[in-house]
Amino acid sequence: MKLPQIGDWTDFAGLARLQQDRLPAVLAAAERSPFYRKRGVAPLPEQPLTTKQDLRDAYPFGMLATDRADLATYHESSGSSGDATASYYTEADWTDLAERFARKWVGITAADTMMVRTPYALMITGHLAHAAARRHGATVVPADNRSLATPYSRVVRLLHDLDITLTWSLPTDTLLWAAAARVAGYRDFPALRALFVGGEPLGAARKARIARVWGVPVVEEYGATETGSLAGECEHGTMHLWADRALFEVQDPATGELTPAGRGRLVVTPLFREAMPLLRYAIEDEVEVSYPECPCGWHLPAVRVLGRTAFAAGGLTQLGLEELVFGLPEEYGVWFWRARADGDRLRLQIEVADRWRADAAGALAGAIRGAYPGIDVHVAPVPAGGLVPFGLLTAQAEVMKPRGLFGPDEDWDTALRYY
Ligand code: AMP
Ligand code: MG
Ligand code: ZN
Repeated sequence: MKLPQIGDWTDFAGLARLQQDRLPAVLAAAERSPFYRKRGVAPLPEQPLTTKQDLRDAYPFGMLATDRADLATYHESSGSSGDATASYYTEADWTDLAERFARKWVGITAADTMMVRTPYALMITGHLAHAAARRHGATVVPADNRSLATPYSRVVRLLHDLDITLTWSLPTDTLLWAAAARVAGYRDFPALRALFVGGEPLGAARKARIARVWGVPVVEEYGATETGSLAGECEHGTMHLWADRALFEVQDPATGELTPAGRGRLVVTPLFREAMPLLRYAIEDEVEVSYPECPCGWHLPAVRVLGRTAFAAGGLTQLGLEELVFGLPEEYGVWFWRARADGDRLRLQIEVADRWRADAAGALAGAIRGAYPGIDVHVAPVPAGGLVPFGLLTAQAEVMKPRGLFGPDEDWDTALRYY
């Protein structure tokens, strides 16, 4: 199967033709999955949405359109709902997955050493970056952020000593590394070229701050375990949907209507999937999709991921607050915050050095009152270590093997609870 590459189409009409040409094969693949055989496969405009609940109901292999023997990997997403959501991919699916992840304007080369700092269990994210880096000949340093083997002290030691050039992580993690590096006394990381980040909403102010703290570009991507990478940035800072590899629609939450662009809930139909075809998958993210003439010349739609709209009171959102926190003057050094909304009252804490306490708290409270006039806000500055405990930044890796024989004064509770 030949996968499209950027440059294979020269305008949005060409992109649409490429998608339409591919749809018959997508519908034929869906016919092979028990779920769609039961539901019925109609041409896309008549096809109902496939929901997350559909995926949960199909656990584990109700969506499988190939033999079990053809599968390369099995994953479950981070979903907090409790019920498992399974995703599975063949070797050919993995070519598509790895290519999409590698489509970043800062390319991955054989000369790169890339630290993969997202989970390997049970999601796709760690494996995805790992596969993309391997495909391009880079050296992978697997530094899973959910493993006791790689606390922050070890991550910054690796970043520094291995001359790591690229990283893949949540945006939040990069600020924790910066704090850990400061504690450990590492001053610079001259080999670092770029930070690849994704997995959570990232506003412009926080993104710019992370780029300045590390002195390298921050390259964002958007994706999910059920789909792999859906969008990534071009060098002009636009996040483009990989619309040659999946067909995207936006559902208006009020009318339920599906359109190619606008603001609403994203709906995804992957165009190259063997193991687990999905027709009009409702990924439950609020987005804004547009078709700009971007100078990159990729002729791919642009997406803004707005995150879930949170607290009704005063229109408060995490992204909105984050923009105000990271809009504070840089010298205040405010990287870490948390807030609790209760009706129209908001209590917010920031970690800030003593000399900037009053200035930072005053400026932030003023900014929040300006942006959310109905909100009664209280900003409490806390000293360094108040939100990110010092011990989190300095903890050493734990022993990761079981042990039977202990000395008289040793803690033998760790015999089998060794992890
Ligand atoms: P998971 O299901 O655990 O693979 O996580 C995927 C979800 O993370 C997506 O559906 C989004 O809600 C969120 N996500 C991933 N990347 C981004 C991003 N760049 N911006 C905002 N949200 C993101
Ligand atoms: Mg998910
Ligand atoms: Zn572009």
